[in-house]
Amino acid sequence: MPVLAWSDDVNSYESLGENGVGETAREVNSISSNPRIGVFICHCGSNIAGTVNPSKVREAAEKLPGVVTAKENKYTCSDLGQDEIISAIKQNGVERVVIAACSPRMHEPTFRNCVKQAGLNPYLLQMVNLREQCSWVHSREKDKATEKAIGLVRMGVAKAARLEPLEAREVPVEQSSLVIGGGVAGIQAALDLAEMGFKVYVVESEPSIGGRMAQLDKTFPTGDCAICILAPKMVELSRHPNITLLSYSEVEEIHGFIGNYNVKVRKKARYVDESKCVGCGVCADACPVKVDNKFDLGFGKRKAIYVPFPQAVPLKYTIDRENCIHFKTGKCGACVKACSNDAIDYEIVDDEIELKVGTIICATGFDIYVPKKRDVYRYWESRNVITGLELERLINASGPTGGNFIRPSDGKPPKRVAFIQCVGSRNRKLGSAYCSRVCCMYTIKNAQIIKEHQPDTDIAVYYNDIRAFGKGFEELYHRVREEYGIEFIRGRPAKLSENPETGSITIRAEETLLSKITEREFDLIVLATGLKPSEGSKRIGKVLPLSLSSDGFFQEAHPKLRPVDTAIDGIYLAGCAQGPKDIPDSVAQAKAAAASAAAIMAGKQVRIEPLTAIVDEELCVGCGLCVEMCPYGAPEVHESETGSKAKIVEALCHGCGTCVPACPQKAIAANQFTDEQITSEIASALGGVGRAAGKTKKDANRAEGA
Ligand code: FAD
Ligand code: SF4
Ligand code: SF4
Ligand code: SF4
Repeated sequence: MPVLAWSDDVNSYESLGENGVGETAREVNSISSNPRIGVFICHCGSNIAGTVNPSKVREAAEKLPGVVTAKENKYTCSDLGQDEIISAIKQNGVERVVIAACSPRMHEPTFRNCVKQAGLNPYLLQMVNLREQCSWVHSREKDKATEKAIGLVRMGVAKAARLEPLEAREVPVEQSSLVIGGGVAGIQAALDLAEMGFKVYVVESEPSIGGRMAQLDKTFPTGDCAICILAPKMVELSRHPNITLLSYSEVEEIHGFIGNYNVKVRKKARYVDESKCVGCGVCADACPVKVDNKFDLGFGKRKAIYVPFPQAVPLKYTIDRENCIHFKTGKCGACVKACSNDAIDYEIVDDEIELKVGTIICATGFDIYVPKKRDVYRYWESRNVITGLELERLINASGPTGGNFIRPSDGKPPKRVAFIQCVGSRNRKLGSAYCSRVCCMYTIKNAQIIKEHQPDTDIAVYYNDIRAFGKGFEELYHRVREEYGIEFIRGRPAKLSENPETGSITIRAEETLLSKITEREFDLIVLATGLKPSEGSKRIGKVLPLSLSSDGFFQEAHPKLRPVDTAIDGIYLAGCAQGPKDIPDSVAQAKAAAASAAAIMAGKQVRIEPLTAIVDEELCVGCGLCVEMCPYGAPEVHESETGSKAKIVEALCHGCGTCVPACPQKAIAANQFTDEQITSEIASALGGVGRAAGKTKKDANRAEGA
């Protein structure tokens, strides 16, 4: 029996023959027409064994052609379970391994490593999913589940007999990273990477970095002033020698693969030369145009030449073309005259910048749910109904009122304030089904701040459940109830009606704890509006085929084991782009994303999985249909001596298989999913226990036809 070991010399598996002469695994394994197969059946505690009878599956597996050993294990992924696989390969000469356990997504990499440790090519492994695809979905039909498990193992063995050894490739990695989004998550990720010595490009679509955190007043749970803790980080980012900040910029194109991404960025024209502008604001003083300030959510005004907020980074002014008199009529020019640095130039045009980076971190944040017109909350119909984020601006010392808490309709301090929770959250009809995670805590925080500003204010919070999880949050919740006398009313308001003379609003609600309908009047209503995927994320979704989860946020590769990775290698997620979360969690995820990106870049070379499509050049006629079909841009058609031929850029190919059925010449196959491998599985499913593994491809095709 050949003993296989990894050889760095030939970058492959070598069989050490009797005289010690190396022979590559590809040769050894591909000539092995009747490979020795080992089957390892996992109980997964009671996850599988609670439904499927593993002993019956093992007994059936033992009888399958080619199977030389079949073992059960309580946890095959444990040390003990893996040792058993290693010893089957080393001692018993097993050449193909079938693991009947959980999903490949969960543990395929674990078992590939294990097989590799034993000296076998790691792609001579076949996973059979007895958990997600069998025990979990058939828990009420144990006998049938066992029957199905036997069938699945039979198919896995049939395929394993036809597995070919594959070799991973190594490609060089660019030592630089792109961070998209300059909120707290993007800022943290960029700083961490820069501190580790990597070059970082930060692309922020707004004129300043800072994101939503820059709009907040104080922050739970510690009560720190948001901008006081964020501004130093913003400045540090802008001054870091390893960071290039491309603010007021959009990512237009991304091509390439892990370690080698080519990025096209459009730097929008500010009409102000950033190298000359010193941020003095004299131009804004001279500008006659006043418009609503988007940063203050319409409560404050700004000029047509502006910085969004005083602590903006970079502190460079921008002309808002849509509202500038010069761009509308060709007149004015007051700002040009006022600027002693000659910084304003109406002729500046958008700039296109090309970057080459090894990794990408997507930190494009969230948007606020905006209530619908004429819905129960009367947000659009009443000025005294505002959102939580609008309240943050109204109570903020650097906000439009200088921190004086007043209501919008008459500028008077409100004496009776109601908060309404879960607006746009936890209700599919009125927004989204998920919990936005931060609104309970930001309401509790803001209720406390109002009490500190104006202790004689009556505050009531209408809620479904209060979710005050995490360090110190539950304690804060109790404090605001007990120390500040804030009233918590369980019940969702059914109707809000405004008194047109006073601007006050009556809430009619069913108080579910008291089982009674109540009507109470308030001066100001604050809606705890939920978090939704940002428009900026949607723009990135058009240039990067990142998967979305059902809630519309970017989907992580695995919720537990790869929470910051995406399905595209070398691209990571940080902060609210991946889902609603608070600042500590956004920062923690940013640090994790930076560490993951750094781990790739530190290696200088990266492995490219060989699970890709392959083109048979003899059959390919170069029609280019695969180029059109591939969502990842992997196939390319090249001229050769024998005519146009498609070629797969392996590093780009995700092995999704879309191109395989699209090819009219049947010239494309997918590694580990060849026709022969798939038809042998189908044949074994149709052919009964113990027969399929020995079938030829011709037999398999006949069975498929049947
Ligand atoms: P964001 O802050 O949304 O930043 C994303 C950045 O990416 C933005 O600058 C955006 O312009 C940019 N961007 C988007 N798309 C693109 C693109 N295509 N290209 C380039 N740039 C792009 N958390 C707490 O811990 N404590 C609190 O007290 C607290 N209070 C809150 C109060 C309210 C009302 C709300 C709504 C949230 C509160 N939060 C609080 C949550 C906190 O705001 C978030 O955790 C934090 O802002 C998430 O940061 P982020 O960087 O992921 O996203
Ligand atoms: Fe304002 Fe435009 Fe006039 Fe400049 S040219 S002062 S930005 S309106
Ligand atoms: Fe509702 Fe609180 Fe969840 Fe927000 S965090 S959706 S207010 S339960
Ligand atoms: Fe593109 Fe998928 Fe074909 Fe690979 S397998 S070339 S990713 S279509």
